[in-house]
Amino acid sequence: MAVASRVRWFPRRSSSVADDAGVRFDPADFDPALRTRLLILQATPFCNIDCDYCYLPDRDSTARMSIATMRRAAERLRDDGLAGPELTVVWHAGEPLAMPRGFYDEAIAALHEVLGARCEVTHSIQTNATLIDDAWCASIKRHGIRIGISVDGPASLHDAHRRTRDGRGTHARVLRGMALLREHGIPFHAIAVVTPATFAQADAFLDFFELHGVRELGCNYDEAEGPHERSSLAGHEAEHAAFVERLLERCADGSTSVRVRELAFARDAIARQQPRQRWREEHWPDNAQTLPFALITVAHNGDFGTYSPELLGQPSPEYGNFVLGNVTTQGYLDSARTERFGRLWSAVRRGVQTCERDCAYFGYCGGGAPANKLYENGDLASGETLYCRTMIQRPFDAVLARLERDQAAARRAREPELQP
Ligand code: SF4
Repeated sequence: MAVASRVRWFPRRSSSVADDAGVRFDPADFDPALRTRLLILQATPFCNIDCDYCYLPDRDSTARMSIATMRRAAERLRDDGLAGPELTVVWHAGEPLAMPRGFYDEAIAALHEVLGARCEVTHSIQTNATLIDDAWCASIKRHGIRIGISVDGPASLHDAHRRTRDGRGTHARVLRGMALLREHGIPFHAIAVVTPATFAQADAFLDFFELHGVRELGCNYDEAEGPHERSSLAGHEAEHAAFVERLLERCADGSTSVRVRELAFARDAIARQQPRQRWREEHWPDNAQTLPFALITVAHNGDFGTYSPELLGQPSPEYGNFVLGNVTTQGYLDSARTERFGRLWSAVRRGVQTCERDCAYFGYCGGGAPANKLYENGDLASGETLYCRTMIQRPFDAVLARLERDQAAARRAREPELQP
């Protein structure tokens, strides 16, 4: 924590942290202008496997999004003026490849028809890779879809959690999918769910990704979310710190070419000041998860929400399961006039104020992830979580401490009289 005390870039302000749910929402109050960056579309809630840490409540349902609903989701974006020059569409919240391939041919064409002239749309699929075959590879290539693979490292780590409904490990099928992508020359990144078992195998973990051609790796931690009520990381934070240190050491000594997302974010944040977002007289570091409609999630049936995508559909009497409306009957900005949105927006803003008041990392993080605040602390308006410490604070501390050590060593090399 000694390092953390030096990384506060913006003066802490005292905040009333008052409930202001009655404040009128006006998109014109935001600077830069409010734009949707990520549109997360749930083609289907169904997943063909059954990971034990999954937060999706309806992963047995084979319901599908219709092209008409998907088109409406895009039209609402266009008509509300939320589509900027660039948009990333992420097909997620279920296994996207459980849909017929033809769905994406139609969906991508329809999105281009609605938004094409106005914005450059990048498509991205996060998949468990078990359904990838040559035909999918051809389709992925044809549409230039960015692929993220959900894989937890070596088989012993992966198969402990990522299993089929009848309890069989999926690692071999994932490796087959990754090999096919490589054969077809399709680049992909990976996202791994890290548990305490991973901490003891940092080198084997990293070597796995190196061996299988992954150059970008995101470490998601086993989080308490939705029906997955408790993170296995609780009580293992010292091991997590050692794990982060080891990953950083490997990245720094050149023994791996894998870029670890959290460490790269930290390095970027230290190297340059974060952009800021202004709302009326308030301003805070840019963070899509705390900015209304910067990130919109649309469920297969057209229900939509904003802020953390994990919120949509999770049981909450107070926030109506985080469903703000349905694209078939209502625009995104129309929903901002509802009492439910007012309450949600107020709670998220108060959460940002709590972070600004209490957290040394606020200038880097901008108020974190509302979903984690809710699931860990029971309150969207709260501050620090286990997620903060694993995803944000420790990587930041580790990277900053290493930079300081490297700088001190470089100074000593230049000026030998500084040698201790
Ligand atoms: S979300 Fe967590 S890390 Fe981010 S500013 Fe808030 S308390 Fe700090």
